[in-house]
Amino acid sequence: MDQIRTGKFIAERRRSEGLTQAELAEALGISDKTVSKWECGKGLPEVSLMLPLCERLHISVNDLLSGARVTEEDYRRRAEENLLSLVQENHENRKNFGLSLVCGIVTVIAVCALTALASFLELPAPVRVALLILAVATAAAGIGAAVLLDVRAGYFECPHCGALFVPTAGAYVKGLHTFTRRQLTCPECGKTGMCKKRLTRKN
Ligand SMILES: [Zn+2]
Repeated sequence: MDQIRTGKFIAERRRSEGLTQAELAEALGISDKTVSKWECGKGLPEVSLMLPLCERLHISVNDLLSGARVTEEDYRRRAEENLLSLVQENHENRKNFGLSLVCGIVTVIAVCALTALASFLELPAPVRVALLILAVATAAAGIGAAVLLDVRAGYFECPHCGALFVPTAGAYVKGLHTFTRRQLTCPECGKTGMCKKRLTRKN
């Protein structure tokens, strides 16, 4: 899937249907900012919006994901490619989530070990300080890496409008959180809430 290509195709089809971005947005019950985001290639429509969008633009979902009208003989091949790239995306998300967990665990163990060494061994003061500094640096690097991997693994779901989105690393770190939810501001409806983590677009 090529977001830029799909975006250009949405814009092209919208114009030939004689619709403005605002009119298309209204027909789908979303903001015109969202339509503009799709057309600039900065995001794909949510799965739940794909059918209504395609109906309005008189195209198939396969056309949408391919970023062009698909001919009959091309249809099967394109459908398979589109399916594979969705599966691939889910696979990448799971991998990033797993790496993030491993990264967090390794960091905790390394920091504990370094702190224990610095506290309990008979060491000259400068070595002790160096070990503690190393422990702090390891903690910072480990947490940073775990955050980056976790942000990239999947999406957060808005509790108000159900939109799935990927927050910026900054918003992610600042957000209050529980184990599966994080306080974030939804880019679709602009409301702030406890957003649930999802690894895939579906279910
Ligand atoms: Zn929302």
